[in-house]
Amino acid sequence: MIGAGPIGCAAAIAFARHGATVLLLESNPRASERFAGEWIHPSGVQSLERLGLGALEAITENGPRRGFVVHPEDGSEPIVLPYPDGMTAASFDHGELVSELRRKAAALPGIDYVTPARLTRLSPAPAYFDSNSGAEIQINAARIVAADGRRSGTRRLLGLGDGSVGISIMGGIVLNDVDLPAEGYGHVMSGGPGPIMVYRIGANKVRMCLDIPPSAAGLRRDTAALHDAVAPVLPAGMAKAFAVSLKARKPAWMETRFQTRTEYGRGNVALVGDAVGCTHPLTAIGISLGLMDVEALLDSADVADYARHRRTAARVPEMLSNALYQVFSENSYDTVAIRRSMYDAWRTSAAERRRTMGLLAATDLRGRSFATSFFRIGFTAARRTVGREARAGHWRGARHALSAFASWSTWPLAGLIPGYRKIPAHLTAPRAGRPG
Ligand SMILES: Cc1cc2nc3c(=O)[nH]c(=O)nc-3n(C[C@H](O)[C@H](O)[C@H](O)COP(=O)(O)OP(=O)(O)OC[C@H]3O[C@@H](n4cnc5c(N)ncnc54)[C@H](O)[C@@H]3O)c2cc1C
Repeated sequence: MIGAGPIGCAAAIAFARHGATVLLLESNPRASERFAGEWIHPSGVQSLERLGLGALEAITENGPRRGFVVHPEDGSEPIVLPYPDGMTAASFDHGELVSELRRKAAALPGIDYVTPARLTRLSPAPAYFDSNSGAEIQINAARIVAADGRRSGTRRLLGLGDGSVGISIMGGIVLNDVDLPAEGYGHVMSGGPGPIMVYRIGANKVRMCLDIPPSAAGLRRDTAALHDAVAPVLPAGMAKAFAVSLKARKPAWMETRFQTRTEYGRGNVALVGDAVGCTHPLTAIGISLGLMDVEALLDSADVADYARHRRTAARVPEMLSNALYQVFSENSYDTVAIRRSMYDAWRTSAAERRRTMGLLAATDLRGRSFATSFFRIGFTAARRTVGREARAGHWRGARHALSAFASWSTWPLAGLIPGYRKIPAHLTAPRAGRPG
């Protein structure tokens, strides 16, 4: 097993419990201290339970998470989006979760946890560099599972390359002594430089995630400007705690990246977790997808079988992540219209709230559900905008609006056409301006 992040540890434990003898290598044990995944959706929580890891203290002591509250940028009433059927998620400190998983893995008799140790080659025979002894040691394994993250060296050694693209930067900061507007929920706030996510990770610790688009990257170096851009979007108590935290410490910045999930390994080398692909953290799906990789790999005859199963199952969560990030991060007139239409759909339709949250929870993986939601929301936004332009006699504007909304129609199409891979439009082309 290459990499003892959340997915490598879960995989090592699962394989050991299935009777395998596992060598678990970790090149940089302090990597788990960086700002990374802290929210696990119900699908991931269910995977952990099936893998026998449901009772992790880092997760259970924080209590269940019931869904999200979206705070629109216009200051209108927040929208509560509970997970369907009483399902719950978990949120925690990333480092605490990984430490607990590593402790559990190291304590299992079937697992030899070696660190710092880095996989160095796969051929002619796999080997790792053991920093303790300073020696390169050959690995004699029937199967190699690489959970070495989004910059996976194993991917490179397999000749699969890194096709990922940068999306934005995200700052993580911890707030102390602060109440959330609704406890037990994650909060998404619109109206800042990019979407803001806030959730509890401990009795006295609330995580704030600040997404910053490349156009505002300067905020990373200018704490005062960052404060002024973000504070007005926050409830008063939270704005105060944010100012206090910013004075005490700088946010931890991470680049957000997108890598489509197409490659799952070769021969006897399987990739799992972020080594397969990664999405923007807004939909917090990385760990859940990785845990589902582990379950699928355990049940698969070989890497080809595993890849077939996962390619289909990961399509919708991946598309949802790209589509929702586009809706929440852009401010072109067509995107704003779609965002408003989405808020309206959530406010007025219990069915739409349920469908969205089933998709977000990754318990509903059907392209049809994704296409239905996106078609309805997009169609309503287009009808309103084009109708307004036409009623005002702005025919050029109406034509322009029609073509802008036509580009959004690729989302529901992507939901319906198997094999269709959608790179988010904002990563490939500049967006159109206002009609008229
Ligand atoms: C800012 C941010 C916020 C996020 N928020 C969420 C969230 O809320 N919910 C969610 O589900 N996901 C979230 N994610 C994604 C989530 O962090 C990842 O999906 C998850 O960490 C992937 O786990 P992993 O074990 O596959 O990889 P990693 O966590 O990257 O772990 C890989 C491990 O492999 C080790 N390694 C690398 N190369 C080698 C080598 N050659 N030999 C040995 N060891 C090696 C590394 O040191 C590391 O410890 C977020 C990501 C970011 C960047």
